[in-house]
Amino acid sequence: MKHPFTYEIIYSSRKTLAIQITAEGNVKVRAPQNCPKSSIDRFLKEKEAWVLKYVDKAKQHPQPSSQPLTAGERNHYIKIARDIFAQKTSYYASIMHVSYGRISIREQKTRWGSCSSKGNLNYNWRLIFAPEEVVDYIVVHELAHRKEMNHSPAFYAIVEAILPNYKACQKWLRENGGALWNRGGSKGV
Ligand SMILES: [Zn+2]
Repeated sequence: MKHPFTYEIIYSSRKTLAIQITAEGNVKVRAPQNCPKSSIDRFLKEKEAWVLKYVDKAKQHPQPSSQPLTAGERNHYIKIARDIFAQKTSYYASIMHVSYGRISIREQKTRWGSCSSKGNLNYNWRLIFAPEEVVDYIVVHELAHRKEMNHSPAFYAIVEAILPNYKACQKWLRENGGALWNRGGSKGV
């Protein structure tokens, strides 16, 4: 039987069938030893809608897991980060009426982004593992520094005018930011 997704079967001494979808959207079927292929097929067919929904979700929002990244995966994510940050910076700069210089993608444990006095922007590529509104917040935060080179109330008023919910993003980063480092170690880009 053909299924609309690829999967890996892992046989073990368990008694029942179970499906696991990894953070990267890979499907793993855990099956008892000697479980006939027809039973696995039937099980996958029953779970098809659920699997497709979760695979799709995992692929759209890659979540960090504890496996280290391969060099290829890492380069892939950095490339995605370049595209995402370039698009979002251009979008928000136009609605905030600010200019900017070069965009660099970095990996600095201590910061998510920065903006130089010349308007050159650095973004941490690991943010692509965060919810999209958090990525937006970092972009808007750095662009707001084009108007206010500080973290004054005037600065946050600029951020809030664009993202009224920015405090939830700050909270998310405080609480979950560390988990964005669970993959791949901390080598420089
Ligand atoms: Zn800042």
